Amino acid sequence: MWSQRSVVDYGLAKRAALASLSSGRVTTTDLCDAHPYLLRAAKHHGEPTDRQCPVCRRRKVTHVTYVYGSELGRCEGRVKMTAELVEMAREYGEFRVYVVEVCQGCAWNHLTVSYVLGTGEPGDRGRRAAGK
Ligand SMILES: [Zn+2]
Repeated sequence: MWSQRSVVDYGLAKRAALASLSSGRVTTTDLCDAHPYLLRAAKHHGEPTDRQCPVCRRRKVTHVTYVYGSELGRCEGRVKMTAELVEMAREYGEFRVYVVEVCQGCAWNHLTVSYVLGTGEPGDRGRRAAGK
């Protein structure tokens, strides 16, 4: 069922970015540059969190989850809800999930974590589709 593999935590990179901001090495314009597409994804497909935006501290950040993997075909690069991932983890051999936190107030955005999901049998679905 739900087992995350090869988890990469981007907390360090995020803290470094925020430290650069507080020291004045970068400005909020540099960091709060969410692409309009990402902001739209956050609004329509994002999942609310309880965590305050580290930059403007006025709104809570939204998580937007993307999936990538050679098995996914046309689903690759799509935004998914956590509930859909559970289903996909049973269906596909391996795919990587990227979770981006987005503030819809100031457009702060940063990769939070990425991990691999799937049955662990690469190409499983492809083989079945080919009838082997
Ligand atoms: Zn913000």
